[in-house]
Amino acid sequence: MFEYQQDERDVNVLKTVLPLMSRHAAGYHPISYAVWYEYAKGTQVDLHREVDEELRRAERLSTTSTYTIYSKYLVEPAEKALITARTGLLELVEQVKLAVLDANRDTAGFDTKLNSFQRQLSTATTIQDLGGHINEMLAETQRVGSGFGKLTNHLERSQAEVKRLTDELHKVREDALTDNLSGLLNRRGFDRELQRMARENGMADYLALIMLDIDHFKKVNDTYGHPLGDRVIAAVGEVIRRCVGLTGVAARYGGEEFAVLLPARGAEFAQSLAQTIRLRVEEGKIRRRQAEEPIGGVTVSAGVAVWRGEGEVDSLVERADQALYASKRGGRNRVTVYDLPSDQHSGAIAATAAE
Ligand code: GH3
Ligand code: MG
Ligand code: MG
Repeated sequence: MFEYQQDERDVNVLKTVLPLMSRHAAGYHPISYAVWYEYAKGTQVDLHREVDEELRRAERLSTTSTYTIYSKYLVEPAEKALITARTGLLELVEQVKLAVLDANRDTAGFDTKLNSFQRQLSTATTIQDLGGHINEMLAETQRVGSGFGKLTNHLERSQAEVKRLTDELHKVREDALTDNLSGLLNRRGFDRELQRMARENGMADYLALIMLDIDHFKKVNDTYGHPLGDRVIAAVGEVIRRCVGLTGVAARYGGEEFAVLLPARGAEFAQSLAQTIRLRVEEGKIRRRQAEEPIGGVTVSAGVAVWRGEGEVDSLVERADQALYASKRGGRNRVTVYDLPSDQHSGAIAATAAE
């Protein structure tokens, strides 16, 4: 009942947004729409006040102000940095455009003036005449030169600004928790999940980890090239994502290495899931292009380990890694479970058959 009323209110807000945007000649793009929607809704008092103040200063909300307000009131901090950078770039492009216009205005007619000087110089009969023309030409050259100077200055400042914004974007990317290529969590996201799960898992609960690494991946890159290598990584990531479903969290741990965290699951479950992933990858058919024969022979090796609250949770990664390398040593395309003996002093490794 409450939700229904809420929906109805939203519909009413929607009805007022477009006329409002049209009245203020607002740009029709999603960010502008989001700002005006919030404005019409009126629940964010500060946003409403800031838009009103802007409208008092100027007739319409400029693109820059729209982005600034959007960033200030409607987005998360990581996205915020991205939008600040974009706003900075928009302003920068605007400034450079103005400087280019200025320089063009200064140079316009310069060649006509030069032609006229040429005529005057060739017909000048006295030294005074000649001197006058030379001074005039000097002044004109300086005027045009300073126009270019301003432009050069702007371009130099722009370069520095672009560098700063690039660094900022780089940082935002680093702050992100997902991997662009596979869509899975990245290493940072994985570390965070691992710590969170370790905190939330009671001592009685298991936390299982599968580490996976594509076999002989260098050969894929060498044979088919890096871009296809990327597609293989993305495809393996997709297989893992599908197999894991809602039972855990999958991450791209490094280059062609993946990790799957399975809260409240033991070794048996993790081993069986690792086998399923291994088989799906082996069966998978990745084509270089549509209609072409699929490239074959992509396999993964896996290592499984389980944590039950003993020691630091980071040791879980080390153990799964050791098991993974046992799979590699054992011939690849197989799953190995790290077997933690009851005295917990020396970890033995129990390899399981590939099939
Ligand atoms: P192994 O079976 O022992 O794992 O052999 P491998 O060839 O897979 O060996 P290794 O793990 O040492 O090599 C991984 C290679 O993956 C090295 C690197 O060039 C490549 N790689 C890492 N990240 C990427 C990536 O993002 N894209 C592509 N295309 N290749 C990557
Ligand atoms: Mg590898
Ligand atoms: Mg590797």
